[in-house]
Amino acid sequence: MESFNNFRLFFLLGCLLLPGISSAGIEDMGFSLDRTYPAEIGDMNATVWCRASQPIQSRMCTMRVPGDFIITLDLESGAVSTGSTALEGYTAFTDQENRKCGIRIQSVVLEDLGQWECMIENAEAPNQIGFVNLLNNEMGFVKDVRLPRHVLPVSYNLSLIPFIIENNYTIDGNIRIESNIVEAENNCDDKCIVMHTRDTYIDEESVLVSMDGFKLTVSSVGYDKERDYLILYLEEPLTANLPLTISFHFISQLQDNLAGFYRSSYYDNLANVTKTIATTQFESTDARRAFPCFDEPDMKANFTIGLGRKKNMISLSNMPKSGLVELNEDYVMDMYETSVRMSTYLLAFIVSEFGNTFAPGHENFKIWAQEEKIPELEYAADIGPKIVEFYEELFDYKFPLEKMDMAAIPDFQSGAMENWGLITYRDTAILYNQEDFSQSSRLRVVTVVAHELAHQWFGNLVTMKWWNDLWLNEGFASYIEYLGADHVAPEMKLLDQILNFDVHDVFYLDSLPSSHSISVNIENPIFQENFDRISYGKGSVLIRMMENFLTKKTFRQGLANYFKAHAYSNAEQDDLWASLEDQAQEDGVLNQNMTVKQIMDTWTLQKGYPVLNVDFRDGNWEISQEKFNLNVEEKEKSEELWKIPISYRSLSENLSDTTVNFWLSEAAATIPANSTDYNETYIFNIGQMGYYRVNYSPENWNRLIKSYTDLPNLSRAQLVDDALNLARAGQLTYSIALELVSNIRSEMDYVTLGSAKNSLQFLMNMLAKDERFPGFQEYVRALLQDVYQQVSGSNSNEYMDVVTRSLVLDWACSLGIQDCIDTALIMIMYKVNPYFTAKLIVIMHIVNPDEKGEVYCTKILIMIMYSVNSDEKGWVHCTTIFIMIMYSVNPDEKGWVYCTGIKYGNEEDWDLAWDRLQKTNVLLEKSTLMTALGCTKDTALIDKYLERSIDPNSTIRTQDKRYVYLAIGDSSEADGSARMLTWLEDNWEKIKEFYGDTFVYNVKNMVLRYPEYSNTQESFDKLRLFLSTHRGELGSSAESVDQSLDKISANIRWRELFYEDIFTWVEGQ
Ligand SMILES: [Zn+2]
Repeated sequence: MESFNNFRLFFLLGCLLLPGISSAGIEDMGFSLDRTYPAEIGDMNATVWCRASQPIQSRMCTMRVPGDFIITLDLESGAVSTGSTALEGYTAFTDQENRKCGIRIQSVVLEDLGQWECMIENAEAPNQIGFVNLLNNEMGFVKDVRLPRHVLPVSYNLSLIPFIIENNYTIDGNIRIESNIVEAENNCDDKCIVMHTRDTYIDEESVLVSMDGFKLTVSSVGYDKERDYLILYLEEPLTANLPLTISFHFISQLQDNLAGFYRSSYYDNLANVTKTIATTQFESTDARRAFPCFDEPDMKANFTIGLGRKKNMISLSNMPKSGLVELNEDYVMDMYETSVRMSTYLLAFIVSEFGNTFAPGHENFKIWAQEEKIPELEYAADIGPKIVEFYEELFDYKFPLEKMDMAAIPDFQSGAMENWGLITYRDTAILYNQEDFSQSSRLRVVTVVAHELAHQWFGNLVTMKWWNDLWLNEGFASYIEYLGADHVAPEMKLLDQILNFDVHDVFYLDSLPSSHSISVNIENPIFQENFDRISYGKGSVLIRMMENFLTKKTFRQGLANYFKAHAYSNAEQDDLWASLEDQAQEDGVLNQNMTVKQIMDTWTLQKGYPVLNVDFRDGNWEISQEKFNLNVEEKEKSEELWKIPISYRSLSENLSDTTVNFWLSEAAATIPANSTDYNETYIFNIGQMGYYRVNYSPENWNRLIKSYTDLPNLSRAQLVDDALNLARAGQLTYSIALELVSNIRSEMDYVTLGSAKNSLQFLMNMLAKDERFPGFQEYVRALLQDVYQQVSGSNSNEYMDVVTRSLVLDWACSLGIQDCIDTALIMIMYKVNPYFTAKLIVIMHIVNPDEKGEVYCTKILIMIMYSVNSDEKGWVHCTTIFIMIMYSVNPDEKGWVYCTGIKYGNEEDWDLAWDRLQKTNVLLEKSTLMTALGCTKDTALIDKYLERSIDPNSTIRTQDKRYVYLAIGDSSEADGSARMLTWLEDNWEKIKEFYGDTFVYNVKNMVLRYPEYSNTQESFDKLRLFLSTHRGELGSSAESVDQSLDKISANIRWRELFYEDIFTWVEGQ
């Protein structure tokens, strides 16, 4: 799966009640969703709630509390009572639609912990019942969730008819599972079958079990809701080695929660109607929501699927179609070929009215989307087959399926999902055209497509045994995506950009006390806590390091062996190490006393990473390692050691050769040097291939500062990032670090500039509120001045030039380089002025990229953009100009142009940009505007943006709210992050009602940027108070707020120690 920066819907304490009325005529079905949430005694304002499918009449809602007595909730007055006695400390609440039956616990006491049962009476429909658990750490979340293994599935025959009909979003299902009985532990004396199910109604009358052809008696059907178990209790025991067949009828739900087999809708502009599709997202544990199954990654089986659909729709699944069955005059069922042996989480189904496209000659590789988006699929259709061919060669293993489909899904939880043979994407991860999208949109498409296709081998063909090894799955795909993307888009130089995207980014997160090792023990995968930047990003840089020390040839051959050995099966990280080890032995690339496992265990089982200290003394290199901590306070020596692959070269040697020439396993070592080394300048960790920082003696740093311009770009980017972060951690003086960074005056390389911008941003954020800040800003402006002059005059369309230009202009405008601001304003405003009193507002208002079809005129557009000269003015004086000028802001320039426009504009400008955001259908326009609206310096507009974010009339999709809150959080000049925290506190209940299930996820984004701008005790206390007040309601997000407190305390200490150093240094310049 491609994460969307940890996008995951964290559900609130609560449960959802939905009645299921299936087309099969079952109407008395009580239906519930069960959840377990952490709570501690003393938590304030914890809530427990259920939601009904229709409005609840007051006092029709009751709850059985853990102490087993029943309380009545008066949703009108908020009173909670047991019969006639009012209960203090508890308040009843509902939502705007009156569908929620909720109780707020003022302060959690021991008696509140346990299972709550929620009952809603309904005059017209059956009563509804649901459960929710509040458990503290001692009571424990349910951890023993693994299925017993005495029944193992071999094949499934599954037919599903999703009804995409309002008020009846149900799925009618029939299943037959052929399985094997084996000798294995179970706690029912072999008299039960245990599989997974969730939110599904099992037609118990229909359950049939037969062993070796003879029918067994099912004495009862049980459910363990905490473990998602369906348990079939048998009269007779199962006998090992006999075949077992299980079949039954069931009904599941097509919910709108982005999980399981769910529904998603979009507005079809061609037909002027809203259309709904049914689609799936199963990783990690949601296949069981669609149909009962053995839902663990190593319980692989062959699947034969039938998907019912209306005749005007299409269906898709992992395999090619094998036939069609007529169901009735409206419905047919598409039959699919039996699948290869695979895991449940990789299955996928889509029923929709989508259309498709494919590249010439590749009709077995189709890309699907709603009709009007089809032209935007061409790029993916072009690169997809090329990347597959590249991987087939790289892994020396043919793609095993006969076809591939990829689809753009309107509502999607993560970035994309690698379902075998049917990959699903969020729209921004697959749609692209040259006119409406920027180069960074294209970058996103090429990397995500390459990522998902890499999973077809790593993850799908060979699957992790259990979720512990998720990092390997994701880290691998996150690294290989660079190779795949580089193959089809070499102009992007992605193998260099990995430094910005992964190495430096993960260096930061992994140097905080709150980091964790990437190999983690996962007991209950439902919480998905390891789908994070550490798993993806650190996994990627470790695999890059490994490829480098093993050499490309050995690494790739070892991988090919691994795929052959474990195809259609499961493996653990040690299996991969073993395949690579065998190949390394054969090729003689590692020295005798170290294995791949020994090396990699030091990197995957420990959190953090080392800094290598290098000194040249008495004719030798003295090197030593210690754990790198960003927090100065964490200086206590840790015992951890890593096996570090060290490469070092003098500047007269070949600096593109990254071969390892020394291994450091101990705390320190001495490397004998050549006699000439006294006069040479050396650099360590060539190309930053190793996942560690390097700190030199001041003398060597000074030599590197002098030789900076002779170094290759990756070394320059490495030095800038290392120097500023070592200084931040108190391990290098700021005078050396800033001296080194001063070299960027002549820097034209994207990777190095990105690295400088990123690491200087910390100083900008920390110093921003000081009255001497303009002096520091002036210093950075001066650094950037020459680079700005060069790139702003360039019209090059080369990829690297375009992205460098965007980076520099965005930075220059945010630093207040006047020419940059003028340029931005000219681009949206000035050229219109001679004729009209137009301002940004007018343009924003009139020019709508959605209307470009009507007004497109290349000639005028080009003239306006670059060269409206005075002779032509009369000619281009026409209303259409307005419409085109805005559009003529090249997609790659939109980011900094819009942001600058809003920053220097007024309220009317802001309003019109908001208006545009509400109307546009152009993806890039949407995301750019969402970010630009946060660029304002006006605190009143920030407040307005916050209010608008929870306006029910806003057209911003819930999945995109993240952009809004990150933009506000980064609005440093309007103090956005602090205002947002206050707003959240003041409007807690309102916001909570508005977001419902996605509240906690959104709160996390609202708080995310706060620590980046906070370095005072006051700001720390504010966040700490917030956390202690709401810990009970924050659930799994409380941990990320804890991490934020870590960051702020590090910032406070940094401020005490180094704040003045920076100003002193700048004043000396
Ligand atoms: Zn992935």
